[in-house]
Amino acid sequence: MYSGPVFDMAKTQFSAVADHLEIPHCERDRLLMPKRLVAVSCPIHRDDGTEAVFQGYRVQHHLTLGPTKGGTRFAPSVDVGEVAALAVWMSWKCALAGLPYGGAKGGITVDPRALSPRELEALSRRYMQELIPFVSPHTDVMAPDMGTNEQVMAWFMDTYSMYQGQTVNEIVTGKPVWCGGTVGRREATGRGVAHCTFRAMEMVGIDPAKATAIVQGFGNVGSYAAYTLAERGVTILGVSDHTGAYYDPKGLDIAALRRHVAAKGTLEGFSTELAFDPDQLLLQKCDVLAPCAMEQVITGANAGALRCRIIAEGANGPVTPEADAILDERRDEIFVIPDILCNSGGVIVSYFEWVQDLQRYFWDEAEVMERLYAALDRSFSQVMSRAKARNLSHRNAALAIGVDTVRRAKQTRGLFP
Ligand code: NAD
Repeated sequence: MYSGPVFDMAKTQFSAVADHLEIPHCERDRLLMPKRLVAVSCPIHRDDGTEAVFQGYRVQHHLTLGPTKGGTRFAPSVDVGEVAALAVWMSWKCALAGLPYGGAKGGITVDPRALSPRELEALSRRYMQELIPFVSPHTDVMAPDMGTNEQVMAWFMDTYSMYQGQTVNEIVTGKPVWCGGTVGRREATGRGVAHCTFRAMEMVGIDPAKATAIVQGFGNVGSYAAYTLAERGVTILGVSDHTGAYYDPKGLDIAALRRHVAAKGTLEGFSTELAFDPDQLLLQKCDVLAPCAMEQVITGANAGALRCRIIAEGANGPVTPEADAILDERRDEIFVIPDILCNSGGVIVSYFEWVQDLQRYFWDEAEVMERLYAALDRSFSQVMSRAKARNLSHRNAALAIGVDTVRRAKQTRGLFP
């Protein structure tokens, strides 16, 4: 059911960690295989008067620690295997961060840029409406991911609330602040990526003010990661998005990039002189390479040619197991901050949003950021200690903490009935 390259990747990573943790084979499926998969057909009226149907999914990986939690992706690549893999990764990520959640993920196979705003609203609302029997603030809480944003979350919340006859802010996170969202959520993932990068720089002895970075993906995660790195003096040499890549060995003008993206929505047309080959961008020499777009961009084919000192995984699953094997051999040259640690700022602040919504009591930005950085520091230190103590890669150390946490809870709760 979940077959495909992305789920295979989640499975391969899990098997390696299960071997390390010496988990008996008969226990492994209970930990890895998702609890539920819901597939929905979402019909909408197109602007031209025709009807169209889009396929949507929601995978809830496990409910052992609390409700499931995870983003919703609108992209042409979305399929059951991709959504299931992302749900599994969310589980290990939440457990590593100590959050009372299992992992979930959802999505619709659609290019949201090919829809008008009215069509996007209709599709978002219909997707949530189809999922109402399967979600609630105490069973599954959605959030944004690639191709969705605060507006889509507001439509999800409004649709759910209309059916309940009352406003239920806590059904989704990543909402606008004026619709029950929390301050700091929009920036949380990117700022968290930068925070983990600064921790890694301390460990390898790089001064941020003299450092350089290349960022792939300039959406929510990539843009805030780049802005936050630049605030501490890091020179951003290159950026890219689905429309193209830009590179300047002297450093890009971050304020100009910010203005361009605010006005146009993408990097398209930022500059003709600085346009660059997107595949080559990843291979340029830099201190920090931050893949913040999608899965499987660092592979067996390019991992050996990377010329960075730190890989900061803003995206989920950007490094394939084949690349991991190469990076493991290059452990002394390249410091990897694995995705479930590096981009966990998003779900940590989503958790804060859910808590604030449930309590109807909102925190200020200083409180949100202080708690976020404390949580990231805790996870970062745990991963580094475990990697050192057991001679593991950072990825395997992070996954081992996540998997072990879920396993311990399952064992202690027992198997029902
Ligand atoms: P987004 O839709 O805001 O941005 C995605 C970016 O990737 C866009 O700039 C897009 O143009 C770019 N992109 C797409 N295809 C590309 C390609 N071939 N080459 C270069 N760039 C390309 O999405 P996002 O929320 O920033 O998510 C990005 C990644 O981060 C995803 O892997 C997502 O799962 C992960 N993530 C997101 C969050 C969050 O809070 N949004 C949290 C954790 C992890």
